[in-house]
Amino acid sequence: MALSIQDLELRGKRVFMRVDFNVPLANGGKVITSDERIKASLPSINYALDHGAALILASHLGRPKGKPNPEMSLAPAAARLSELLKKPVAMAPDCIGPEVEKLLPKPGEVLLLENLRFHPEEEKNDPEFSRRLAELCDVYVNDAFGSAHRAHASTVGMIAYVKQAAAGLLMEKELEYLTKATENPRRPCIAILGGAKVSDKIQIIQNLMKFVDRLLIGGAMAYTFLRARGESTGKSLVEEDKLELARELMQQAGPKLELPVDHVEAAELKPGVETEVVEQISDGYMGLDIGPNTINLYENVILGAKTIIWNGPMGVFEVPPFDKGTIALAKAVAESGAVSVVGGGDSEKAIRSAGVADKISHISTGGGASLEFLAGIELPGVAALEKAAKRHGIG
Ligand code: AMP
Repeated sequence: MALSIQDLELRGKRVFMRVDFNVPLANGGKVITSDERIKASLPSINYALDHGAALILASHLGRPKGKPNPEMSLAPAAARLSELLKKPVAMAPDCIGPEVEKLLPKPGEVLLLENLRFHPEEEKNDPEFSRRLAELCDVYVNDAFGSAHRAHASTVGMIAYVKQAAAGLLMEKELEYLTKATENPRRPCIAILGGAKVSDKIQIIQNLMKFVDRLLIGGAMAYTFLRARGESTGKSLVEEDKLELARELMQQAGPKLELPVDHVEAAELKPGVETEVVEQISDGYMGLDIGPNTINLYENVILGAKTIIWNGPMGVFEVPPFDKGTIALAKAVAESGAVSVVGGGDSEKAIRSAGVADKISHISTGGGASLEFLAGIELPGVAALEKAAKRHGIG
């Protein structure tokens, strides 16, 4: 077990908090188009400030490839955070060095360091860079679940050089729900998997198969399975080189794995195109959403479930009317009353456009990290916190 921020004495301490402020930007990096990630960090930030910490925040943003790039500055995030906290947030010109040391906060103050990835040493998990980051603080807190699958200086390396290291409230919440859904889940426990490619989700399918009672497949991924089973798939997105693998996965999963029984097909992908519901895709057409019988079948499984794990849309939900299947299932998940954990990105957008986000137990803020967790892969950022707790004889 990792320590929690709530286990630490923060009063008068300089706290280095790794947050995930990797927000989407527009206008050459000047405008934040979604501040969800900043808002998700507020509980830990407020907790630290309420407990008398001097707070240093650090994050990466985008892929600046180890060089300063004004279009990927965290300055707009500092401004937005300041509005949300209703207090000043100082912006450092860098994340290490004498300029930063001059700006170190006093208790109750907040300093946001500049993008960690402006230094190539961050992604290289460089020991000297890690040590210099650690030198800035008394206590380290990792609240960046979205970066927990990366072994970088700010998520792993610096933990070896700090006196105390703990998980923030968001990190704890993410781990609590993902663990609840995957270790001794309330049954029936089901997973809904969609999206574009089987190849992206092989390990997840293999891991989920070990403990779920049903695995409902949708999205383009379904067509690789259906083709492997000998069905006609027309022009649907099929990964030809994964047919053998799909056969093996179906064999391993047995009746747990459910595939769509009907589809919404069209000759091309564009809004308002003529569509037809079919059981097998016609030549020259492509399957772009699950059909009404599949919706019914999947809804019944969902409504009987006690734990639901969902990743990936059931169709091309960005282009109506191919969003119908995804939205119907989002509503069923909300109605089910089950513990529901939805993995970032597209599934989150679908849940929000269905207007049911408040009825989902947990929408993960970390796409890549939650996928790796569901694939059964140890997250280096979490493992490093657990190791630190052991070092202190706790956990
Ligand atoms: P992923 O990132 O793997 O979760 O895939 C999400 C993408 O899969 C979305 O952009 C969807 O539009 C796409 N997708 C879902 N179903 C289909 C389909 N039947 N045909 C083509 N693309 C699809």
